[in-house]
Amino acid sequence: MADRAEQAVASPDRIEGVLLGAAAGDALGAGYEFGCAPFPTDGRARMIGGGLGPFAPGEWTDDTAMTVAIAEGLVADGRRADRGVDLAAIGAHFLDWFRADPPDVGNATRAVLAAARDGADLARAARHHLDGHPRGGAGNGALMRTAPVALYHLGVEAAMAETARAVAALTHADPLAGDACVLWCVGIDRAVREDRLDGVRDGLAWIPEERRERWAGWLAEAEAGPPERFRPNGFTVPALQAAWAACLHTVADEAAPDRQLEVALHRAVGIGDDTDTVAAIAGALLGGRWGAAAIPAEWRAMLHGWPGLDADGLASLARTVAGVAEA
Ligand SMILES: [Mg+2]
Repeated sequence: MADRAEQAVASPDRIEGVLLGAAAGDALGAGYEFGCAPFPTDGRARMIGGGLGPFAPGEWTDDTAMTVAIAEGLVADGRRADRGVDLAAIGAHFLDWFRADPPDVGNATRAVLAAARDGADLARAARHHLDGHPRGGAGNGALMRTAPVALYHLGVEAAMAETARAVAALTHADPLAGDACVLWCVGIDRAVREDRLDGVRDGLAWIPEERRERWAGWLAEAEAGPPERFRPNGFTVPALQAAWAACLHTVADEAAPDRQLEVALHRAVGIGDDTDTVAAIAGALLGGRWGAAAIPAEWRAMLHGWPGLDADGLASLARTVAGVAEA
């Protein structure tokens, strides 16, 4: 199968980097979310914990927890599920997480998962929520967790775009939320397989024509920067712009280019507002480009979170989703 051949050439380190980068951004931004703690004057975020819940230093929040839920839903019997994407399995993992009463659930996600707790169809509940909250279906809560979809479909864009939209729509019914997930997944694919951060633009090919020009304009705004322009960023468009601008406008040290991951994540958190989510989004792309090896050892040692995983467990899950053998 074409997709298996493509995956064979993708580096396991970059595949692991996608989920570890997202988790690192999440845990780094958690304490500063919506101004809970002041951003350090030296411009370097710390994994201080706290924020919107009693999070421990290094603990990831809803962004990575829901990312893990999607990844788990793409795995069956300890292996990548090769029979295709089971949306019901992903929804069941969302509900498992929600039943654990997490302290920080986004508004749309909370409304939809609460409605679906009794077995209602998630996507239908999401559409119902959109009817009553016209802007509520375009929050950044789908984009923040989309990375495993890219890993599952590396090199197979049509399927990647279809799954990205379908998984977004489990909680976020606005088409803009799905669009953002498509763009980011294609960007992650390019980062992992082609060593570049600018592949988000390639995703425009999978945006319906009636919205493509608007998205091209939004991407151009991010390219013009600066990243700090994109706040508030609870809506999926400025969240994507903030994350991408942080990646594009952070210059790497020529002597140590992979330090760009670390520097860009500090910048992403420093934008403010929904700090952990913007940094989680950025981290998935940066981790795909620079690999797990670019995650500072101190961060890697601290990372942990629902459902009882540490960095090694998350790395292993990333490889399983992508269908890559243990290192
Ligand atoms: Mg969060």
